[in-house]
Amino acid sequence: MRTTELRERAAALDAADPLAPWRQQFALDDGLVAYFDGNSLGRLPLRTRDALARTVREGWGERLIRGWSEGWVDLPSTVGDEIGAVIGAAPGQTVVTDSTSICLAKALHAAAGLRPDRRRLVIDGSDFPTDRYLARQVAADRGLELDHLQPAPDGSIGAELLDSALDKDVAVVLLSHVDYRTGALRDLGSITEQIHAVGALVIWDLCHSVGVVPIGLDAADADFAVGCTYKYLNAGPGAPAFIHAARRHLSRLTQPLPGWWSSADLFAMSDALEPASDARRLLSGTPNVLGLVAVREGVALTQEADVDAARAKSELLTGYCLDALDTIVERGGELEVVTPRAATERGSQVTVRVADARSLTTRLIEAGVVPDFREPDLVRIGLAPLTTSFEEVHAGLDVLADLLGLG
Ligand SMILES: *Cc1c(COP(=O)(O)O)cnc(C)c1O
Repeated sequence: MRTTELRERAAALDAADPLAPWRQQFALDDGLVAYFDGNSLGRLPLRTRDALARTVREGWGERLIRGWSEGWVDLPSTVGDEIGAVIGAAPGQTVVTDSTSICLAKALHAAAGLRPDRRRLVIDGSDFPTDRYLARQVAADRGLELDHLQPAPDGSIGAELLDSALDKDVAVVLLSHVDYRTGALRDLGSITEQIHAVGALVIWDLCHSVGVVPIGLDAADADFAVGCTYKYLNAGPGAPAFIHAARRHLSRLTQPLPGWWSSADLFAMSDALEPASDARRLLSGTPNVLGLVAVREGVALTQEADVDAARAKSELLTGYCLDALDTIVERGGELEVVTPRAATERGSQVTVRVADARSLTTRLIEAGVVPDFREPDLVRIGLAPLTTSFEEVHAGLDVLADLLGLG
């Protein structure tokens, strides 16, 4: 496609975009040409800035300890249920707490504990490092054998590949719904079914899909899930994560860090812990109220904009980005798209492989275009449907073309 055509198409897509007005609900005073990192740190929603200021001033400042009984105490589960609505899980199965890493450790221990007679833990050998490190540690702690499954180069995990890793000795399989490197979207429903067919449990890491891909956890009968809130849910740096366990497991599971917040009755203060029968049993200690307020606002915004609408725009954004990258390649730009081409097989990012990816990323950032770099040679272009415009994609990739010597 010619570059003038691409520019016109970006303008037309923005004009027809029902989500375009949502962009104005975010802080945009960053002076950037293009922000392609909403998949690492989502933009600040203006309502979150206000809600945090109000919680500090009126909540902490004026209500002090009374704030807990006036609603703070329920935030991990009420905000958890709101995330439940985003990921297709009925209330009572999700709480907001800790970091994704800690939630992963809890889910891995809890899931393995539900399959005490099985010896194998299967993970994606190219998954995000924290997922691999924690799985390795949990396997060592519990005397399990850790097996790595190697996805195809585009990050996809087909039925045959998965089948080769499964047998009746597998206790738990941990997988990311969207591959953080390539952006490949895995089929959550059929993979869950395949794992259940050998009697194993699945833990889904939803970090790169929550908020931008409809996720039917209950419909898929998934067992456990964890995910971030600071990526597409726009809850801010280090905002607390979420952990989900299916209701059928909740009354039986044991988590590795039970604390007073795991209790059925928080103020019973009894010697023996009587764990809550819902997802609160996955909590440990006093929650981060400011973080929870930010998660609540980000999730509300996502719900109001609607995840299906976000997904529809996300497919158009990634599709437009792929066309623009193909045009760069046609003009002689040296890069290779690694993200799967089919809309149904990609999340909300497009990844390219280029020589000197690290220094190219640095030069892009200097020119006001912020993607991110992943070892060894990948540049990720994250496209957040509530905040990224088509003209922004066009402008950002124009800078990329210049830096590749096509100016
Ligand atoms: C972003 C991300 C994490 C982050 O974990 P933290 O504990 O928040 O640092 C974990 N797993 C995956 C797959 C991610 O993409």
